[in-house]
Amino acid sequence: METTKYLLAEDHLPKNWYNVAADLPVPLAPSLHPATGQPIGPADLAPLFPMSLIEQEVSTERYIPIPQEVLEVYQLWRPSPLIRARRLEKALGTPARIYYKYEGVSPVGSHKANTAVPQAFYNKAAGVKRLTTETGAGQWGSALSMSSAFFGLECKVFMVKVSYLQKPYRRGLMESFGGTVVASPSTETACGRAVLAEHPDSPGSLGIAISEAVEIAAQSADTKYALGSVLNHVLLHQTVIGLETLEQMQMANDYPDVVIACTGGGSNFAGLAFPFIGQKLRGEANVRVIAVEPSACPSLTKGPFAYDFGDTGHLTPLVKMNTLGSTFVPAGIHAGGLRYHGMAPMVSHLLNLKQMEAVAVNQLETFAAGITFTRAEGILPAPEANHAIAVAIREALRCKEEGVSQSILFNLSGHGNFDLQAYMDYQMGKLHDYEYPAEEIAMALAGLPSVKDF
Ligand SMILES: *Cc1c(COP(=O)(O)O)cnc(C)c1O
Repeated sequence: METTKYLLAEDHLPKNWYNVAADLPVPLAPSLHPATGQPIGPADLAPLFPMSLIEQEVSTERYIPIPQEVLEVYQLWRPSPLIRARRLEKALGTPARIYYKYEGVSPVGSHKANTAVPQAFYNKAAGVKRLTTETGAGQWGSALSMSSAFFGLECKVFMVKVSYLQKPYRRGLMESFGGTVVASPSTETACGRAVLAEHPDSPGSLGIAISEAVEIAAQSADTKYALGSVLNHVLLHQTVIGLETLEQMQMANDYPDVVIACTGGGSNFAGLAFPFIGQKLRGEANVRVIAVEPSACPSLTKGPFAYDFGDTGHLTPLVKMNTLGSTFVPAGIHAGGLRYHGMAPMVSHLLNLKQMEAVAVNQLETFAAGITFTRAEGILPAPEANHAIAVAIREALRCKEEGVSQSILFNLSGHGNFDLQAYMDYQMGKLHDYEYPAEEIAMALAGLPSVKDF
């Protein structure tokens, strides 16, 4: 029988995270203070994050040790499997070898737990009592609620309103872990009230929910803020995915020609791809790396690489990233985790350095890909992950056309068992594609802050 699953023993769990900053040919542009336009220091971030995470945020050490307490929780589901999608290969009739790393095995069903656990651990160690955060589809909120329960923290989650309404079961899961969930924009914060005053029917956005969570954290001494993506330390924690995969590809006696992942804020992409990009930057290997985003929210493919706020209420530092403008509210596509106006500075930087590619895909193609995948492999993917599958299928069909047998690796960042309404709507023909919202994006981009470039 041919091997389908590449499983690592528990003692093969990586003991360090990989920090791509160590291998960059050009360092990341500094984050800027929104008031002065000058680079910020660790003290500026201290109201929001514990110093241990701020140190990781700016570190240039190649490997950062994973604390024992974190490894013990990771062991609940890690190492995660690498699976050869043999049945999908057959269904497509492709000579390509397709592999997927399956992050849906975490208790909350996605990769988000890989950073929620260390973030809760470091906050607890710093004496924090409560965490606030945002969540789109509810994946991040579930992961942080679970991790808060593990380490004895309270957790307050601002959930983007369109998802709060579309995905009540995610809310039920967060509440089961003891989390408190509020639909955003809410009346609990000045930022939320300001949005509601202007747009009473606002569907919400990650940018708005971040402002609300940051506002609450900045106001109370025992409360800090946790972000589910975008920041360097979040991307760092996710690299357990790619580090395991490097070893699993060796077990498979193979190496990917193409590595693919979807991008909302960039964390599952970074998690899988950065260890491979690191090998490329060090001249040890060569690989194509593709980030896939929704056409309805195309920050990497249509947004300029510029300084912008991470949130709509303009409470966060300015970071240099591919952005659609902090006031852009994306259409209510079902891939809620991909509705973010910006992109991780580190991912934007690597795109700018031409170490990776980016493509945008429309919603209907992604759901068609998800259905093809589930009928072949049995796992119903998260709508976000369908973006990666769509491009993996495009690449597999290209291999078929060209008659070449390449190796394609993608990140199946989560399962879609809480997203059945989206699949039912798709089957009933209720979903549609969104035109590239050029006018709205132009309007949001006109409001980009003007600061000296670094
Ligand atoms: C949140 C989420 C994403 C998008 O976020 P990234 O930070 O870009 O990874 C993708 N897939 C799933 C399953 C998610 O929960």
